[in-house]
Amino acid sequence: MPVQWQPDKLKLKSRSRLRLRLDGYSDALRIEIPFYALVGSSRGPKLVVIAGIHGDEFEGVRVLHELARAIEPKKLKGTLTLVPVANPQAFYAGVRRNPVDQGDLNRAFPGSAQGSMTERLAHTILHEFVLGNDYVLSLHGWSKESLVVPYVEYPIGKTEVHRKSCAAAMALGFEYVHPYHWPAGPLGVSALDHGICCY
Ligand SMILES: [Zn+2]
Repeated sequence: MPVQWQPDKLKLKSRSRLRLRLDGYSDALRIEIPFYALVGSSRGPKLVVIAGIHGDEFEGVRVLHELARAIEPKKLKGTLTLVPVANPQAFYAGVRRNPVDQGDLNRAFPGSAQGSMTERLAHTILHEFVLGNDYVLSLHGWSKESLVVPYVEYPIGKTEVHRKSCAAAMALGFEYVHPYHWPAGPLGVSALDHGICCY
């Protein structure tokens, strides 16, 4: 659960721009993750949308900044958390992996509070942004190197959380919906382990 911020203390029908501080990364450079929290006319359900896990995938970053401005909290039911740049060091360098330890953040979940920089970042993102939500949507993109038809993945499985993840993926309305066996390490796998739907 979050330590640095308290989602349930935010007012109903509110839009907040907040910052998460990453401690212990450098003596000289403060590293922060800006994010938005939009609370609708009720507290639940809770969805977090995360972009920029890979630092060279820019589409989701822009989309989340635009969404944060476009969505009217009073028309919302539940809480929507938008994290445009989850991996700030990789984003500032314009590369997929964290440039400090060359770790791939989307292969590092659930991470570790005492691990490498990428493992610590994964641990922080999971606890500060993901746990406590009902759904997590992880945005990725290929525009730096190629074109891809927009599609959504959902995890293959027979449990209730798998079924609800599939339903959430279908609800996005994409023509292409891709059932997937994710490898170890992506954010979505750790979300499933905590009973949180992901897609
Ligand atoms: Zn990616």
